[in-house]
Amino acid sequence: MPRSPAPSLRWRAGAVVLAVAMSLATPTVSGYQLVRGPEFVWAPELRPVGYWVANAGSHWLTVDQVVAETRAAFDTWQASEAMGLELSYRGKTNQRPFDFFDATNTVGFSTPERMAQLGLSQVTLAVTSWVSAIGRGVIAEADILVNPVYTWTDIPDSGFWDLRATLVHEAGHFLGLGHSGVGRVGDHGLVAGSSVMWPYTFGRGSSLGRMLTADDVTGAAVLYPSPEAPTGSIRGAIHRDSGERVRYAHVVAYEPLRDHTVGAWADGEGNYEIAGLPDGRYLLRVNPIPAHHGDGAYFFPYGQTDRDFSVTVVAQFALISGGQATEINIEVLP
Ligand SMILES: [Zn+2]
Repeated sequence: MPRSPAPSLRWRAGAVVLAVAMSLATPTVSGYQLVRGPEFVWAPELRPVGYWVANAGSHWLTVDQVVAETRAAFDTWQASEAMGLELSYRGKTNQRPFDFFDATNTVGFSTPERMAQLGLSQVTLAVTSWVSAIGRGVIAEADILVNPVYTWTDIPDSGFWDLRATLVHEAGHFLGLGHSGVGRVGDHGLVAGSSVMWPYTFGRGSSLGRMLTADDVTGAAVLYPSPEAPTGSIRGAIHRDSGERVRYAHVVAYEPLRDHTVGAWADGEGNYEIAGLPDGRYLLRVNPIPAHHGDGAYFFPYGQTDRDFSVTVVAQFALISGGQATEINIEVLP
């Protein structure tokens, strides 16, 4: 049975800070989740994208330890050859995370006072903000703020909160990713194979979140395609037997030979697209948002998700060949 995540295990989702106004408009959602659509990427003129580490340690870690873990977290994404974006460490800074419009993408610890000032809850482990350029909708600045009140560690599986695992998740937001529905929940929480962009942490003492899955890498590759690897996509509509569309369903494509699992979210009209898929024969499965997850955990408008249908496995394989798009409409079981 899936366990309900305790509030203290929650990450704060990436807050959206706009140069003009706070926007909570319905995001254009596709895979693994592109939080605000495939255009929500770093401005081309700001690439390679630099990041800095705040010159402030915590009770548990020195600044140099934070630098090492931050670089390791960003390098984890950079290591994927499918992602065509370069990230570059630029050094320590006296700027602090969430000093907005300072043209410094700052990662690091805040103070409890600053957290309170920003209205961030004490159960927030870390939070990523984006500043997007007026009128263009691209990312112009991003910061990652880490809550200093937790017992952080840089030692894997030591029983404390793994800073690197948390920063790998936040670095996914930094790239423009939202939350993924690819999670494998065991008796004691998430197990290996769960996307690092799952909306809840793997828990204190777990270092599983240091490892990207195919779902995470595919999300980054769809935002920043690498020219070498042509990929295909599966798309279509999710509907009931009446023909009525199903809103914000989760669609998973699984390639058994590669053990390759990639999820995507249908939008508010019931259309889905899973992009970034290598050639293969994919099994498709549709499921609603987990019952104990709020709509907000996936940036969906409250009360707009359809959850009253059963997990549905599509009887036919979806074939992707030569990087083409395959269209498959899916009727869900009641
Ligand atoms: Zn998150």
